[in-house]
Amino acid sequence: MSKIQIIPLGGVRESGKNLYAVEVNQSIFVLDCGLVYPEGEMLGIDYVIPDFSYLEENKERIVGIFLTHGHADAVGALPYLLEVVDAPVFGTEFTIAIASITAKAKGLGDRLENFFKIDEKMEIEFEDAQVTFFKTTHSIPDSVGIVIHTDEGQIVYTGDFRFDAGATPLYQTEFGRLTDIGEAGVLALLSDSANAESSFENVSDLRVLDEIVETFSNADGRVIVACIGSNISRIQQVMDAAYHTNRKIFFSGTELYDIVDTALKMDKIKIPSRRILGQIKQLNTTPDEEVVILETGDVGEPLKAVEAMCRGQHRQVKIKEGDLVYIASTPSLAFETTMARIKDQVYRCGATVQEITDHISTSGHASQTDLKLMLNFLKPKYLIPVNGEYRMQNAHAVLARQLGYKDEQLLLPALGDVIELHQGVLQITKQVEAGDVLVDGIGVGDIGSVVLRDRRILSEEGIFIVVATISRRLGRVLVGPQITSRGFIYVKENIEILQTCSTMTLDTLDKHLASDNFDWNELKQDIRDQIGRYLYQETKRRPVVLPIIMEASSYQMPNE
Ligand SMILES: [Zn+2]
Repeated sequence: MSKIQIIPLGGVRESGKNLYAVEVNQSIFVLDCGLVYPEGEMLGIDYVIPDFSYLEENKERIVGIFLTHGHADAVGALPYLLEVVDAPVFGTEFTIAIASITAKAKGLGDRLENFFKIDEKMEIEFEDAQVTFFKTTHSIPDSVGIVIHTDEGQIVYTGDFRFDAGATPLYQTEFGRLTDIGEAGVLALLSDSANAESSFENVSDLRVLDEIVETFSNADGRVIVACIGSNISRIQQVMDAAYHTNRKIFFSGTELYDIVDTALKMDKIKIPSRRILGQIKQLNTTPDEEVVILETGDVGEPLKAVEAMCRGQHRQVKIKEGDLVYIASTPSLAFETTMARIKDQVYRCGATVQEITDHISTSGHASQTDLKLMLNFLKPKYLIPVNGEYRMQNAHAVLARQLGYKDEQLLLPALGDVIELHQGVLQITKQVEAGDVLVDGIGVGDIGSVVLRDRRILSEEGIFIVVATISRRLGRVLVGPQITSRGFIYVKENIEILQTCSTMTLDTLDKHLASDNFDWNELKQDIRDQIGRYLYQETKRRPVVLPIIMEASSYQMPNE
């Protein structure tokens, strides 16, 4: 009888940032280690990673970190985990290649000797459990699901997946293996919920290819394809479609997005024929109807590059009349306003825009039918919907109920919930520390909600700085107050407001200097409150008020 715990440390009640700890007796198996890109209101934050406190506290017990695929939501936070935890990393060839790039970029090149390539035929024995893998279909090749074999049954984590009977070999699911796993008895299934809410069925990749071919054939001029670099299967289809329509592919941008570059070097993107590869210097001498420009964006964000092409700020490409901008991967909802703005600019250049989703529904994640099929294959005793916000986890649970699952078989944990096996029953028993850590350029976790609030206020309301020099010994204000504002009001037109602020500050300074219990914090707070209140009353805005009060202790009055 093994002691079993499953702890989602990321990836539940949120999209992305997958991180699950499965404990079998004393061993901890870490599944995925992803990050998430922040939403609009997190100013200046590059990305969000999971809180690793629990894993750090228990690092001696971690036997391995197992990765399902090479997307940022599965491997992006790995370098940060490796900074606090020293454990071997397991993944398929392509996944390890991508994980290695991110590790090297963080200066962790010496850890690569602890990275191990696995494949779907391998069985890895650990003291408390065995780990195996099964191939899945996703928008990036070499995706796998993970199985942890315990004497209480198997624990299966799908990673991001979908089903597609028309998938090419690099992307095919091993249906036979799924049946075998189901036969052997699954205790718990952690399954992808990202697309559980959508009632649209994904079309097969074969149909997607037809759609792209048709688009390329119907276009009279150049086609500029904007496709997110991590969608390797889509880039493959764009290559194939260019081949079928006798167009040449030109990669724009100075350097290729590293995932695409790695995929090309490792033959994970198959080039149908050398003749389709165009040299960017030949772009202007190639007839328009033979051109496909592939833009994956410098940091994987192609829409920004398209915008630069419209404005004539792109180094190689300028959008012109007759061009078709083809959005070949669906940007997340967060980009909706950007998208609308860019479309407008494209049309103003005399070009047109088409989105792949205008005609077909396609996603790298399991549709409702796919999710039901997975449940049918694996027949788990318990379903734990993961990789999704609460409403998606819930939609996944609703599907399971349609298949006859009872409420007690469906577990919808929050971050840090400990799901424990007790006398054959899995239930949430307690919580461990879990949450978000914000990464801002080089700093990790030193940005809290207060800093974010200040950044938001600064960007929306501006800043108001009050500078003065005082002498407590002399009990008087020596210099100032001087008032500066940025991003708030135009100084020349608001002399009166500034003068009032200056007088108010002077009064406050005098009052505090006269007091017997002078306190720096109280003084600054008092200035902030008074000025803040006054500015709000006058302007209905709340800028950041920053009093900088200095003490001139050795100051001598000239006539002293
Ligand atoms: Zn993915």
